[in-house]
Amino acid sequence: MLANYHTHTARCNHAQGTEREYIETAIKNGFKILGFSDHCPQPYPEDYYSHIRMRMDEVEDYTNTLVKLRDEYKNDIHILIGYEVEYTREYFEDLIKYLRQYPLDYIIQGQHFVPNEIDGFYAGAQTTNEADIKDYVDITIEGMKTGRFSYLAHPDLLNYVGPDKVYQHHMKRIVETAIDLDIPLEINMQGFDLNRNYPSDRFFSMASAMGAKFIIGCDAHAPEAIMQPESVEGFSEFFNINNIAFGDNLINLKTI
Ligand SMILES: [Zn+2]
Ligand SMILES: [Zn+2]
Repeated sequence: MLANYHTHTARCNHAQGTEREYIETAIKNGFKILGFSDHCPQPYPEDYYSHIRMRMDEVEDYTNTLVKLRDEYKNDIHILIGYEVEYTREYFEDLIKYLRQYPLDYIIQGQHFVPNEIDGFYAGAQTTNEADIKDYVDITIEGMKTGRFSYLAHPDLLNYVGPDKVYQHHMKRIVETAIDLDIPLEINMQGFDLNRNYPSDRFFSMASAMGAKFIIGCDAHAPEAIMQPESVEGFSEFFNINNIAFGDNLINLKTI
């Protein structure tokens, strides 16, 4: 594939390596586009500190660093500046205004919390509660409908371990929305590599049959994770099972 739009930096406190190392690995592994999309800060109340994302005051250094590297490497690779954003109803518009003061190419939606990080639940925690899956789908679709997200990261992060029928009844609404709004759904390479609950066959076999568009995201939290899907053991099999083909992985970015 030629592009990866899902790359983190050490600012989120759970990724490692320098931006330069990510870029050089991408060039070495044949990428033409590398999009940085670190976990976006959120304008949360001052008494709440998130351990998994940069602070609002780190946006300037994040974008300055990437602008310099974008110029330095411009003959070898196209660098894009973005974020993986948690959609949170009460903070979203303020956040977009803030981010727009700095260089910004795109955002992707990563819905890790339902309905938010402060008093919601983590979507990746196992659940058998049908209300959880419904709430996850509702907040995810609300975010998709803002029209600002270039794609939906790990759409199948929600870790519902109940019957397929219940799972698909709710999750198909995300696929329908993605098709309506022309939003690619991400097949998350990190999740596959770490043997997480995503990417999930029961989600992608359904989405593939429905005709959704897909994109592979490295979701790199270390430079060596910027790799081609063919070099991830067993990953091709996932594509065969779910009737999905590898492509160039290029997408149209939405206006923010
Ligand atoms: Zn992360
Ligand atoms: Zn991510």
